[in-house]
Amino acid sequence: MKTGKKTIALIITVLSISVIAQTHKGFDSQSPLQKLIDGNKRFTDSKPMHVNQTSERRSEVAKGQKPFAVVVTCSDSRVPPEIIFDQGLGDLFVIRTAGNIIDDIGLGSIEYAVEHLRVQLIVVLGHEKCGAVDAAVKGDHAEGHIQNLIDAIRPAVEKAKNNKGDLLDNSVKANVQMVVKQLSSSEPILKEFMHEKKLNIVGARYDLDDGLVTILH
Ligand SMILES: [Zn+2]
Repeated sequence: MKTGKKTIALIITVLSISVIAQTHKGFDSQSPLQKLIDGNKRFTDSKPMHVNQTSERRSEVAKGQKPFAVVVTCSDSRVPPEIIFDQGLGDLFVIRTAGNIIDDIGLGSIEYAVEHLRVQLIVVLGHEKCGAVDAAVKGDHAEGHIQNLIDAIRPAVEKAKNNKGDLLDNSVKANVQMVVKQLSSSEPILKEFMHEKKLNIVGARYDLDDGLVTILH
């Protein structure tokens, strides 16, 4: 190769590396919420990138975790956070219970993520046709500890009764908002981090049909 061609090849290589570096930098500098929204868009467009699911990533996170978001969602098998947000190993710190309700054990898990892992975003994600919320809407009496779940969701249903529209879907949203409020006012850790603007807590709803996550305001 002549010197001129070598120089051009070198320039192209340097430019390519520079573009890749900028792309990666841009990706990493996104807000945690934007990363989730973009991942959900890839999922709904059927163009998932399956990010951070390589053996290299596995080795990287084996040394320690630094998730960028906490996701509190329902145990429902149709709502797996890593899939619907197109994320991988070490990305999300997930707490799942039927009806995405939080008790002291769940709260302790979230506090650990916020205080020790320095996660700055919590997403409380309810979903369309949630069976746990539906049971609370119907006022079912359940066996065993299932009743505890229904009792915990019940206040959200009472609140949603004042709203127009579909009671189940309104209850799903009210339940999300109830948990967001619970977490935002939780002392001493979460409330303090919120006050210091080191933490953001948002509610969202997942649509089972089209896979879209909508942020609730
Ligand atoms: Zn559910």
